[in-house]
Amino acid sequence: MPERPADAPIFDPEAFRLTAQEAELTARARAFGQAVLAPRAARWDREASFPTDNYRDMHGKGLLGICIPREEGGLGADFRAYCLTAAEMGRYCGATALTWNMHVCSTLWTGALTEDLEMDPALRDEHRRRRQKHYDRILRDGAVYAQPFSEGGAAAAGGVAFGTTARRVPGGYLVSGKKIFASLAGHADFYGVLCTEVKEGEDRLSRRDTLYLAVPRDAPGVTVEGDWDPLGMRGTVSRNLLFRDVFVEEDAALMPPGLYFQAATRWPHMFMTLSPTYMGLAQAAYDFTVAYLRGEWPGMPPVKRRMYPTKQIAVAEMRVMLEQTKALWFQAITDARPDPLKEQVLRAWAAQHTVMENAAALAARAVRTCGGQSMLKTLPLERIYRDARCGSLMLPWTAELCIDRIGRDALYEKGETDD
Ligand SMILES: Cc1cc2nc3c(=O)[nH]c(=O)nc-3n(C[C@H](O)[C@H](O)[C@H](O)COP(=O)(O)OP(=O)(O)OC[C@H]3O[C@@H](n4cnc5c(N)ncnc54)[C@H](O)[C@@H]3O)c2cc1C
Repeated sequence: MPERPADAPIFDPEAFRLTAQEAELTARARAFGQAVLAPRAARWDREASFPTDNYRDMHGKGLLGICIPREEGGLGADFRAYCLTAAEMGRYCGATALTWNMHVCSTLWTGALTEDLEMDPALRDEHRRRRQKHYDRILRDGAVYAQPFSEGGAAAAGGVAFGTTARRVPGGYLVSGKKIFASLAGHADFYGVLCTEVKEGEDRLSRRDTLYLAVPRDAPGVTVEGDWDPLGMRGTVSRNLLFRDVFVEEDAALMPPGLYFQAATRWPHMFMTLSPTYMGLAQAAYDFTVAYLRGEWPGMPPVKRRMYPTKQIAVAEMRVMLEQTKALWFQAITDARPDPLKEQVLRAWAAQHTVMENAAALAARAVRTCGGQSMLKTLPLERIYRDARCGSLMLPWTAELCIDRIGRDALYEKGETDD
């Protein structure tokens, strides 16, 4: 198949005033995505298999350590730099970008984000010592981390404590419970499990006691179960994980006790990291439509369809939707910081909702506009369409939950009731 010309950036560095680091990382991801991710994406989708080859190559490019601080050997990307880079990856392979997000969170949440949180100095030293162990595995061995938090109840939405538990025993913890939809199941080297510490003498689990523990994939008591044959994001291999009295040592703690709760309450933008993949898919649906209507999609006869007014209107409306999505999302990822204003949190939910819903809407419009041949499996659009549909379902900030929270917080100030 002939090559496509190099894609333009989703966020032009000059127009969006990106930092030099953001410009470099996004260019690196775009070149890698176009050359390496795009040609392989159909295979992971068809087989519903994990993109192991991509991870090997991402390790070679330093991308597994993108959010590991520079002084600890990584590329030192902060939240926004990561989001912009991940959007470029999502453009070419949704499943790789989405699973990469699970991995990257194990370094972003434990790295840059914790620098903004309160810890006494001795605890911070201990945290830095522990995380270096994880970072070394990633940088040296190419270790990949998953992030299973969903359990099929209200915990993943942040409503109640995780039902997966950790009990203190000499030298570490015993982890027990079940996680559903664990992307990278059977393929990650470590599962970054969110679970609740069971405290002696307390009869109820508390969200304040959430622990974030790295469980080795081959630890006795870890099992992967269930089939995986979904509509979209098929390469994520998000099967179920069972933990039966799995022993992990104390250094398995990716964050000290109490820190995840502090992060979740003080750094809410941390839950936006699933959206970059779908920002990339939204751009991909638009790009495909323009190239297809211009008769320039590689491998297709050079038939132009751009002269019809209905196609021009459709593309114009897609462009409007894409620009709205980009502008809101860019502002929201720029807002991210500890203890954001209420306005910034409302905007983060609005941005998450917009990206997830608009990616699916743009992909649907692209199929409708390009027509019958465009949905053949020899072309990427139908995969983009199926992958994009999954965005609104991603907890903790599903499209429904974002609407719930915006409506509530727009109408009530903290502590207000109608009694
Ligand atoms: C491709 C893909 C990859 C995924 N990867 C991971 C992963 O790596 N790790 C992981 O932990 N999870 C992952 N998930 C899981 C995902 O984030 C959801 O947890 C999962 O889809 C929830 O499934 P459910 O059917 O039990 O949803 P339910 O919990 O039944 O929720 C269904 C809908 O109800 C709404 N809802 C849920 N709770 C509330 C509430 N308290 N109040 C109001 N409305 C609510 C939400 O809108 C939600 O979409 C993945 C999902 C997909 C599709």
